Amino acid sequence: MFDNLSEKLDKALHVLKGHGQITEINVAETTKEVRRALLDADVNFKIAKEFTNRVKEKALGQNVLTTLQPGQLMVKIVKDELTQLMGGETEGIDLSGSPSIILMSGLQGSGKTTFSGKLANYLKTKKNKKPLLVACDVYRPAAIDQLHVVGDQIGIEVFSDRENNDPIAIAQAGVAHAKANGHNVVIIDTAGRLAVDERMMNEISNIRNAIKPQETLFVVDSMTGQDAVNTAKAFNDVLNFDGVILTKLDGDTRGGAAISIKSVVDKPIKFIGTGEKMEAIDVFHPSRMADRILGMGDVISLVERAQEQFDEEEARKIQKKIAKNKFGFDDFLSQIQQIKKMGNIKDLMGMIPGAGKALKGLDIDDDAFKHIEAIIHSMTPDERSTPSKLNASRKKRIAKGSGRDVQEINQLLKQFDQMSKMMKMMQGGGGKKMMQMMGG
Ligand code: GDP
Repeated sequence: MFDNLSEKLDKALHVLKGHGQITEINVAETTKEVRRALLDADVNFKIAKEFTNRVKEKALGQNVLTTLQPGQLMVKIVKDELTQLMGGETEGIDLSGSPSIILMSGLQGSGKTTFSGKLANYLKTKKNKKPLLVACDVYRPAAIDQLHVVGDQIGIEVFSDRENNDPIAIAQAGVAHAKANGHNVVIIDTAGRLAVDERMMNEISNIRNAIKPQETLFVVDSMTGQDAVNTAKAFNDVLNFDGVILTKLDGDTRGGAAISIKSVVDKPIKFIGTGEKMEAIDVFHPSRMADRILGMGDVISLVERAQEQFDEEEARKIQKKIAKNKFGFDDFLSQIQQIKKMGNIKDLMGMIPGAGKALKGLDIDDDAFKHIEAIIHSMTPDERSTPSKLNASRKKRIAKGSGRDVQEINQLLKQFDQMSKMMKMMQGGGGKKMMQMMGG
C-alpha cells in the first residue's frame, strides 16, 4: 500500500536532516520534493500545490517556536496536513434507522458487490447486527448470482426477485422483507455501468428517493487514480452521497485517490477494502493512514487486529498443553490459522513502523505459511502430537508428501523445538529464570 509514495516522501523529508534550523531555502527544497511525490502518486495538481503551500507556511511559522529537529518537525507538519486532507476525524456509518438502510452506488467493477458482503459480514460479526442484502441489479443476472454466492459464504440472507425488472420495486420489497423478518440493517447493491451515464444516475436517484436510506455510500476502485476522483465528483453532484468506500487498496495503487477524494467531494472516506476476502475491510482512520503513508506504521490497528482474533479459550487450552509438555504440531497449525486471520503478511508488515522500508524488495508470499502447513499436513496425527517420533524414514515420507525437502523439515523441527522450550520456560515462572540465565 502506497510503497512508492512512502519512499519518495521519506526521501523528501530527509533533505532537512543535518540542517540546524528550518530556513526558507531548505523548506522550499523539501516542499518541492513533497509536491513531486504527491504528483507522482497521482494526487491532483491543485490539491498537491495547496497542500505544500500549507506545509511551507506552517514550517516557517513554527521555526522559532520549536526545539524539535527540523526533520522531525517537518514530518509532523506533513503528517498533520495529510491527516486533514484525508478527512481529519474517523467517521462511522449511521445505523440509527429501523431498519438502517444503506444504499451502494458506484461503477461496475468498483467492488460494490464484494463490499456489500464485507460490510454485511462486518456488521454481523463486529456490531451484532442482522443484515439483509438486497440485489437490485436487474440487468445482469450474474450480478444477482454473485450476491447470492457472497451471502452464502458469510451466512447472510439475500433478497432478490428475478421476475421483476424494476429496481425501485425490488428495493422497496427488500426493505419490507427486512422489516417483516427482523433484519435491522438492509444493504442494497445496485447496478453499475462501465462509465458514468445519465440513466444509471437517474435510476439510483430514484431508488434513493423511494427508500430514503440513512447512508448512501459511493464505492470506488482506488487503482483508477484521477478517474476515481472524477467519478466521485460526478456521482456526488447527482447523489450528494454520505461517504466513500475505497476498494483495492491492497493492490499497488499509487494512493492519489485516497489523498484527493475528500477534498474534492468533501465527503469522508468511511471504509477501505484491502483484498478479495470477506474479512478484508477496515474502518478508515485518516491519522493512521497518514502514519502508514509516512512509513510510521500503524501499531494501533495491528494491536486491534490481534485483539479481535485473540481467542481466550484457545489460549487457555494451549497454555495447559504447554504446561503438560503436550504442545504439538496441531496446536502450531491452529496458531498459524489465528495469525492468518489477522490479514496477509505483507499488509501486517506494513503496520510495523519502519518495516515497510526494511522489507522493500523482499518477495513475501501472500501465504507465507503455506510450506509449513504443507509439511504439517503430511504428518500423521500421531507424528503431530509426538514430534520426537520423526525419524529419517518418516521425514523422507513427509518430504515427498509435502513437496518440500528434508532439510526444510529438519529446520521446522528445530524451530518447533526451540519454540516449545521457550514457551515452557516463559510459563513456569520462567521470566525470572530466563533473566537469571541472561545474567540479569
Ligand atoms: P461490482 O461490479 O462493483 O459489484 O464489483 P465486484 O464486487 O464484482 O468486484 C470486482 C472485482 O474486484 C472482483 O474480482 C473482486 O474480487 C475485486 N475486488 C473487490 N474489492 C477488492 C479489494 O478490496 N481488493 C482486491 N484486490 N480486489 C477486490
